[in-house]
Amino acid sequence: MGVSFDKIDGFIWFDGKLVPWADANVHVLTHGLHYASCVFEGERAYSGSIFKSREHSERLKRSAQILDFEIPYSIAEVDAAKQLVIDRNGLPDAYVRAFAWRGSEMMGVSAPTNSIHVAIACWTWPSYFDPAERLKGIRIGLAEYRRPDPRTIPALAKASGLYMICTISKHIAERKGYAEALMLDWEGRIAECTSANVFFIKDGKVHTPIADCFLDGITRQTVIDLARRRGIEVIERRIMPDEMSNFSECFITGSAAEITPVSEIAHWRFTPGALSKQLMEDYSAEVQPRNTKAVAYSALASSQNTSPSDSSVSSQRKDISG
Ligand code: PMP
Repeated sequence: MGVSFDKIDGFIWFDGKLVPWADANVHVLTHGLHYASCVFEGERAYSGSIFKSREHSERLKRSAQILDFEIPYSIAEVDAAKQLVIDRNGLPDAYVRAFAWRGSEMMGVSAPTNSIHVAIACWTWPSYFDPAERLKGIRIGLAEYRRPDPRTIPALAKASGLYMICTISKHIAERKGYAEALMLDWEGRIAECTSANVFFIKDGKVHTPIADCFLDGITRQTVIDLARRRGIEVIERRIMPDEMSNFSECFITGSAAEITPVSEIAHWRFTPGALSKQLMEDYSAEVQPRNTKAVAYSALASSQNTSPSDSSVSSQRKDISG
């Protein structure tokens, strides 16, 4: 095991200020911890630029609204703060975690006036899955839990509560020697993995489940776009597990997982092939920044201590105007 996540050296953006990593703490009586009133994003920076930063910030804001709270920063401010975090930590290629949660003022199910907190951290996360495994494909187990009916939970939000069954399912899969777990949806159709969407290939066409009861990943949308740009047909449809015997290739997608080929799901077998490799190459090219850094710190102009050249990071938090 590596260094514990509370022991990393660096800076975390916490409610408008960069603070030393060790000082980014919350009280045990925090609504987000007890009632899962927490939303988050997982993103990647490539060569100093966060891929689709704006889309992630927009989703973060939207997820919070679905959970009935408003993030007290604009999308431009969240974008600028994320950029500041990777710059100040000196990590041009990093995984970025932005998150927001309800604070401690009220500790019951209802907490409409609780303060809303936002933090952003980043760390190195070279490849989600073992690089040696990557090209030969990972092995995935079938999860017992299913993605719930969207009438029973806000399924399209990237909210902590939705990850409870992901953690349980991934632990069970890992104990059986798998790298991931595939969940069906509430009607028994293929849904998604615990932190990635899934794609299949058959006769040169790409098939993927309709994202109406699970996260419509930003990587998923990017891959669909990349395939269509190449003239490859992408079919979004209901897919039953039995159909997996007809697919030749399979891969999963996510900001952390990027495009990761799959060699097996339970007793179904796939051989990562030319189309998966092509899309992996296209994705690697797509995530690289085209111009010099587009995100300016100007959105954070009203706060102090935001200049990347300013090395005197204050541990005192100060709100930036929203
Ligand atoms: N599904 C789940 C459950 C996830 O956690 C993720 C990762 N955020 C994804 C799909 C893929 O989403 P994205 O491509 O936006 O990272």
